[in-house]
Amino acid sequence: CGIVGYTGKKSALPFLLDGLEQLEYRGYDSAGVAVVGEGGAAVVRSVGATKELRERIGDRELRGTSGLGHTRWATHGVPSEKNAHPHAAGPLLIVHNGIVENSRSLREELEARGEVFASDTDTETIVRLVNRTMEEGGLSLADAVRSVIHRLEGSYSFLILHRDPEVPLVAVHRGAPLVVGLCDHGVFVASDVTAFPSEVRSTVFLEPDDLLTVEPSGLFGIRCLASGRERAAERIGRNR
Ligand code: GLU
Repeated sequence: CGIVGYTGKKSALPFLLDGLEQLEYRGYDSAGVAVVGEGGAAVVRSVGATKELRERIGDRELRGTSGLGHTRWATHGVPSEKNAHPHAAGPLLIVHNGIVENSRSLREELEARGEVFASDTDTETIVRLVNRTMEEGGLSLADAVRSVIHRLEGSYSFLILHRDPEVPLVAVHRGAPLVVGLCDHGVFVASDVTAFPSEVRSTVFLEPDDLLTVEPSGLFGIRCLASGRERAAERIGRNR
């Protein structure tokens, strides 16, 4: 599957849809986007390709300068609208590439603690676990991700966006490729550079166990998931 995220100054939706089309070679059975802005968050999902997703959106204006996009290749749960990404828990929205191998036992644990799942995916266990941890521990989104990541077994990557547009976008590399694209109006992160528009002028390839945070201002940082330490200086920076 393919994932793409953007945070910056421009409207996110056109970039997300164009990016998803370029990621379709990775396989798809459904697609979805989430856009976050001052007016709140909007999520649209559809079975099929980005074309069907565009039709589903129609002429609705989904305003927002941050967003997530996903083309799914189902591993847990049949291809359907309810299993299409992004998935949500509380204020969090997630797109995910790969597999959480212990999702069944995590789901049982979370259900026993009162979580009600809306899909059959392994992906939803990630976002529910992170949201619980964030709420119960009074942690930031990035710190909540860091504190639970060791519990999520498998090879994957994901992006999480908060419905509050001021909270930094979080991206995690745990074995599935992710690359950051920098341009004058914002920061992209995607499964492959093919998802980036032509104005992207430099790229940073994330490595396993990288945690990327991107603020709406364009300031971004890459930390080690285990230690929380910042990665080498040449791999971090201010994007304008
Ligand atoms: N395991 C997730 C799912 O089944 C993500 C699959 C993918 O990489 O598209 O929804």
